[in-house]
Amino acid sequence: MTAYDDLMAFQRQTEALAQVSGRLGWDQEVMMPEGAAAQRAEEMAALETVLHARRSDPRIGEWLDDCVTMDETGHANLRLVRRQHERAIRVPARLAAELARVTSLAQGIWARARADEDVAAFLPVLGDVVRLRREEGAALAQGGDPYDALLHDYEPGTTSDDLAAMFARLRPRLVALREKALAAPPAPRLTGSFPEAGQLALAHEVARAFGYDFERGRLDKSVHPFTAGSGDDVRITTRTDEADPFNCLYSTIHEVGHALYEQGIDGAHLLTPVGQGASMGVHESQSRICENQIGRSRAFTGWIYGRMRDIFGDFGIASENDFFRAVNRVARGHIRTEADEVQYNLHILLRFDLEQALMRGDLATGDLEAAWNDRFLADFGLAVDRPSHGMLQDVHWSAGLFGYFPTYSLGNVYAGCLHAALCRDLPALDADLARGDPGAAIRWLHAKVHRYGSLHDPLATITRAIGGEPGEGPLLDYLEAKFG
Ligand code: ZN
Repeated sequence: MTAYDDLMAFQRQTEALAQVSGRLGWDQEVMMPEGAAAQRAEEMAALETVLHARRSDPRIGEWLDDCVTMDETGHANLRLVRRQHERAIRVPARLAAELARVTSLAQGIWARARADEDVAAFLPVLGDVVRLRREEGAALAQGGDPYDALLHDYEPGTTSDDLAAMFARLRPRLVALREKALAAPPAPRLTGSFPEAGQLALAHEVARAFGYDFERGRLDKSVHPFTAGSGDDVRITTRTDEADPFNCLYSTIHEVGHALYEQGIDGAHLLTPVGQGASMGVHESQSRICENQIGRSRAFTGWIYGRMRDIFGDFGIASENDFFRAVNRVARGHIRTEADEVQYNLHILLRFDLEQALMRGDLATGDLEAAWNDRFLADFGLAVDRPSHGMLQDVHWSAGLFGYFPTYSLGNVYAGCLHAALCRDLPALDADLARGDPGAAIRWLHAKVHRYGSLHDPLATITRAIGGEPGEGPLLDYLEAKFG
């Protein structure tokens, strides 16, 4: 056995335990009885204690020193293990366990506060989460910027300055496009009611059409749709609203995009550091290209229109063109997850600015609601009428995911680049999509992105896939062509 073999054998068990922790998280959102919340928080903290001890184990440093020159996969695994180890030894075990416990508890408290429209009930635990994550950010940054240190967990190699510059380039063209789209005649809306059974049947059919492997996954319902796991157990969730079938349909396609990435990683990387997505931004590029550039295209919505008429009968839309406009309706609204492609990144920009202020100590949690509501009115011309339409709408901050939101916009930018390259390589794409067959597009994404997992760093993953440097131009051009 070489030092590398020893290290990888140790690491494989750590990866397996991390998968177990992720599955407990899935269970918490999908199956767990509400009364188990406090016990689950302790279970999560116990598992995090084990994971933290393994990741900070001093033997890792010795193995890393003793590893000799090896192949590309070996180098990538060492790079990822080293990053995880250096992170773990900076964070005290007590803090890691406390974060796991408090964020597990906070998600249940957030869900109840959101249902009750009760910000005051959420603020104490949010204050705890912010305090602990700031402490972690400071420990990781070692004198540097705490927000950037947290951001690096989700998007290694990117700084808040890079992202602020990206948003500064996106914002003016998005705002101009929104004003143009809102001034146009309003798109038609669906009428009637859409029974849940029909929505879930369509969700399963569309997931299969995209190539989601139900032998190595499952589709359930949760408050906030998400994807959990990697390798041979990649689960997705969706939600239903009887008045709005697009919520379920597009949440499902989005999560399928994430799941195809994890299911598509080369099996040789199973339970190794390389065997997961390269970053959250790269991950989001896979979900968004499936949801938007493919799922909301004129060609694919033409097929969806036919399937929905088969399942639900007449819903007040007379043609495929009207249906395409209904799917891509641009309207003022409060909710990020329901936002159209034009306004989506403006919702992210608001969160990016507020969470930086929270993490840098420039905004107190007690002032967050007022700050959110003022900013929302200024950015969207709409007053926030209730907390679930404002600062209580998203799960992320209760889960301690500070630094995560901007990766959504980075993912949209990457999706724009990938889509431009995809259209160049696959001239028959629209003809396939009009038949409800995204297979060729998914095979392209698999060959260019999925199979590599984390073999290359995030920026290199996208650069290699598109054959050049990514930028926001292709996304903005696509949006202006579609919505202008
Ligand atoms: Zn996503």
